[in-house]
Amino acid sequence: MKILLVEDETEIGSLVKDGLEKEGWSVDYCEDGDSGMTCATTKSYDAVVLDVMLPGRSGLEILKALREGQNNVPVIIITARGESEDRIEGLNLGADDYLPKPFFVEELLARLRAVWRRSSDGNMSLLSIGSLSANLMSREVSRSGQKIDMTPKEFSLLAFLMRSPNRVLTRTQILEQVWGYHFDPGTNLVDVYIRRLRAKIDLEGEAELIETLRGVGYRMVDAENPRPAEGA
Ligand code: CA
Repeated sequence: MKILLVEDETEIGSLVKDGLEKEGWSVDYCEDGDSGMTCATTKSYDAVVLDVMLPGRSGLEILKALREGQNNVPVIIITARGESEDRIEGLNLGADDYLPKPFFVEELLARLRAVWRRSSDGNMSLLSIGSLSANLMSREVSRSGQKIDMTPKEFSLLAFLMRSPNRVLTRTQILEQVWGYHFDPGTNLVDVYIRRLRAKIDLEGEAELIETLRGVGYRMVDAENPRPAEGA
């Protein structure tokens, strides 16, 4: 779970950042509107938290740019006391929720979970292939209703494969996306993890979901939807 936080008041910003990180989310923290705009429009996030009044671009301008770019990432705006017009404008621009200052970090966490639940109704946070499903928010994995425990790395790898069904992913792509390596570490790291994943997800009597393409990479097979996902 990756969150973009744009807030110019350092005290609030670092409090929120710490709170989110304690929950296991990774946070990109921008302290002005221009760097916030750059992050929002060039990187991909699972949720965006925007203060309205910022040096440089305002939170509402960032929100507008996101929605104009067809980016439907859940957005929560945080507003100062007396900025009720900003709240209304924010909701009109497509914010999912707003939170007036001052607020407790717990409250923001609750709102984030709520927007996530709503967006997961739209299948944004639930990946599923055949009888295998993975929830990006709760990080729960199950096959035919049977819960499967995963380490964080195993989960990241599984989510990466499931996001691109029927597409061949090379070891290089996997190392970059899952481990952040932009070089070949010269180990069989990927293969070792794939083996572990298979041992966990391929229950007896169920179809094998990860296909090996010798010398190339791996592919998550979605037999029910044989065409590769659009834009994946
Ligand atoms: Ca501010």
